[in-house]
Amino acid sequence: MTDAAELRAAVRDFLAEHDPGGDRLEFLRARFDAGLAWVNYPAGLGGRDAPRELQTVVDAEFAAAGAPDNAPSRNGIGLGMAAPTILRFGTDEQRARYLRPLWTGEEIWCQLFSEPGAGSDLAALATRAVRDGDDWVVEGQKVWTSFAHKAKWAILVARSDPDAPKHKGLSYFVCDMTDPNVEVRPLRQITGEAEFNEVFLNGVRIPDSQRLGEIGQGWQVAMGTLMNERVAIGGGNTGRESGMIGVVAREWRDDPEVRTPGAHDRLLRLWVEAEATRLTGQRLRQQLAVGTPGPEGSAVKLAFSRLNQEISGFELELLGEQGLSYEDWTQRRPETVDFTGRDPGYRYLRAKGNSIEGGTSEVLRNVIAERVLGLPPEIRTDKDVPWKELPR
Ligand SMILES: Cc1cc2nc3c(=O)[nH]c(=O)nc-3n(C[C@H](O)[C@H](O)[C@H](O)COP(=O)(O)OP(=O)(O)OC[C@H]3O[C@@H](n4cnc5c(N)ncnc54)[C@H](O)[C@@H]3O)c2cc1C
Repeated sequence: MTDAAELRAAVRDFLAEHDPGGDRLEFLRARFDAGLAWVNYPAGLGGRDAPRELQTVVDAEFAAAGAPDNAPSRNGIGLGMAAPTILRFGTDEQRARYLRPLWTGEEIWCQLFSEPGAGSDLAALATRAVRDGDDWVVEGQKVWTSFAHKAKWAILVARSDPDAPKHKGLSYFVCDMTDPNVEVRPLRQITGEAEFNEVFLNGVRIPDSQRLGEIGQGWQVAMGTLMNERVAIGGGNTGRESGMIGVVAREWRDDPEVRTPGAHDRLLRLWVEAEATRLTGQRLRQQLAVGTPGPEGSAVKLAFSRLNQEISGFELELLGEQGLSYEDWTQRRPETVDFTGRDPGYRYLRAKGNSIEGGTSEVLRNVIAERVLGLPPEIRTDKDVPWKELPR
């Protein structure tokens, strides 16, 4: 098994042959081909079957050399959700086609899951996929699709069998977002930005070779994606005092004006909770290193969103009037999702979405209750009823 010393040596050998100051894309492609992209992925697919925890070793070596990174925040859905799904459920051809340009950021991905009538109850979705020869013809509407306007590809769940119960009649596809039958319209958020969109699929033809997993097994594939999504949102590999707690702790240190004994107590409590959440995320990543994410990822995502909202609210109180300023309300398309950037008013408003995106807090509590704590499940009367007979 590869260890940290071997990886450091591999990075140094690589840097001796590739100029980190040269062409960015060429450098990233070569890094992928050398198995130094995501070290836990298989050889030939950007990795070397090394423990996932060793990724930090490789990233630190590249950063110290001033090498360009693959700007992970630009392609969060690709890296956090599409890639692990393709790795687990894709064919060899699909893995070889999609993973390299995904990692380098040449191809951005988005996630076509939510619909106007299917969010938390994703299995109720109505977008139809009808088989036509070697293709599927997809018709329907998706919503809240982050970065659909930048994406080359989407991971898509659609109903391929309306006669089957809702969880059993779904299939999972890779959809080309540049297809002329895909229409993307911006939706403006509470922050004023338009990170996400509604997407209309107007008879889009998707070759069967772009199906991930078996026909009718889309729910199982989607569950793998969503577990990874929760880890990606809540369990990032962050250092102590990063994220919102870092922002507020810096303000506290830099500005004596904001300090009061009451605020000190609250800051300390939030600091301890943030540290406990960060360490829980670290434990989750260790668990991930030896398998796939479990429902525990829901607990980290839940804790992250609760804390992010509490700390960004505390920041506004701390800063008083200054916290209410809002620099720019024009509608714009941000480059990345930014939970800690821009000004305090933005941070406060953006944090509101944290308890909705990637699974609402209420639904995550259900997951934890049923699948971690073993409490009695919610009553489900529609499990065995054909989807087409369900009231909508
Ligand atoms: C910033 C942001 C980005 C997003 N990006 C994407 C994206 O890229 N792709 C994508 O597909 N989707 C995306 N979403 C959509 C998101 O996943 C859904 O909004 C979410 O799953 C909730 O679904 P819904 O909006 O239909 O709410 P509903 O499911 O209608 O829920 C409404 C309320 O009822 C509660 N509720 C529902 N069911 C239960 C239950 N069984 N028990 C207890 N309470 C319940 C919910 O918690 C919520 O409070 C994004 C959302 C946001 C806010």
